[in-house]
Amino acid sequence: MAALDSQEPQPAQVVLKARKSRPFYNRHPWVIDTAIDRIQGIATDGDVVELVSDKGRFIARGIYNARSRIRVRLYSWVPSEALDRDFWKSRLSAAIRLRSELGYDDPQGAARLVYSEGDGLSGLVVDRYADYLVLQVTALAIASRLELIVPLLVEMLRPRGVILRTERGMTQAEGLELANGTYWGQPPDGPVFIRDGPLRYGVDLLEGHKTGFYLDQRENRKAAARYLAGRRVLDMFCYSGAFSLTAAALGKAREVLGFDSSQKAIATARANAELNSLANIRFDTGEAFQVLESLGSAGARFGGVVLDPPKFARSRATLKQALQAYHWLNRLAVNVLEPGGYLITCSCSGHVTRQDFRDMLLGVAQQTRRDIQILEQRGASPDHPVAAGCPETDYLKCFICRVN
Ligand code: SAH
Repeated sequence: MAALDSQEPQPAQVVLKARKSRPFYNRHPWVIDTAIDRIQGIATDGDVVELVSDKGRFIARGIYNARSRIRVRLYSWVPSEALDRDFWKSRLSAAIRLRSELGYDDPQGAARLVYSEGDGLSGLVVDRYADYLVLQVTALAIASRLELIVPLLVEMLRPRGVILRTERGMTQAEGLELANGTYWGQPPDGPVFIRDGPLRYGVDLLEGHKTGFYLDQRENRKAAARYLAGRRVLDMFCYSGAFSLTAAALGKAREVLGFDSSQKAIATARANAELNSLANIRFDTGEAFQVLESLGSAGARFGGVVLDPPKFARSRATLKQALQAYHWLNRLAVNVLEPGGYLITCSCSGHVTRQDFRDMLLGVAQQTRRDIQILEQRGASPDHPVAAGCPETDYLKCFICRVN
């Protein structure tokens, strides 16, 4: 076959500007347009290209997209490795193998099998919910190879159906035109039920947030529950109720109140409490800042408060504003915590660093004149691995604090 191979057209070379190579030697997979000096050869969107330094030295192999600010997504740093079927197959199976090593292999359970940059597969998320797979595609590189990738996943995992979910804004950012919905196999005819330890949840794979459930918080819910025995707990931004259910069932919390602004989320949370026969949880719709304010002024006090808001900082530019919002939110929460209460406070904004988040808590401690002891500084569950060379994969912060 060597003769055939040698007739294949040479891939285009993307040449970096001088002094722009370091992140890519460190295996950061995003080549932003401004780092690129020129392109040698012809690259069309979705083509495999080679990334070379300004001196012409091979750095990595990736996939080109002129419509995105991330002009090239890198997938392999091995000069001899082609981005062919075998390559995708071995990357996918390595990611899947890791999850079973981690013990996330309950056939009735749920797990993130592929976490984009965290698994060397930039732009692809694969979540398994019992026998369904939900794919979130955020790169043209992946979208243009779904006809290769989905059959590989089907062959390896034998799912009942494969659902595709796209994030708003991706059409614009990447030039993707993907339809949401069932991509392969059977569509679910209602919520898909998953098990997490002793708890069961109904998950709406087609319309729920993200891929249907926040798998990244799974271990944090269990960690938080350990502090909440016998306590009255407030779960803000509760979505489908997972922090509340875990606190009540695993943590033996005395009573839980959960709030979310979405009526649909609250309906699901109530159904989940019922599914698990947990009668000491109450869910209600409400805007978090308003609810906390009115609870505070009515003199309500809790032994634990969970804050798991949506992303406040969508970009660098909004970081300062976002930190102010986190400050206010946490301050309102501290005001309804009894002395010795636990604050479980989260941020999924990648632009907010752990240091930023600790500084925000320091500000809250100063303003409220309460002592905040940080007991645990947690991240996402291990099925969301952080790539050492790609700090963006370390987006979730979940701090467990005692407030005196
Ligand atoms: N804690 C949840 C995940 C929370 S995701 C879990 O463990 O599964 C963030 C949630 O915040 C979403 O459900 C969204 O509907 C809700 N939300 C967004 N803005 C809100 C606001 N201002 N007040 C209350 N809820 C809000």
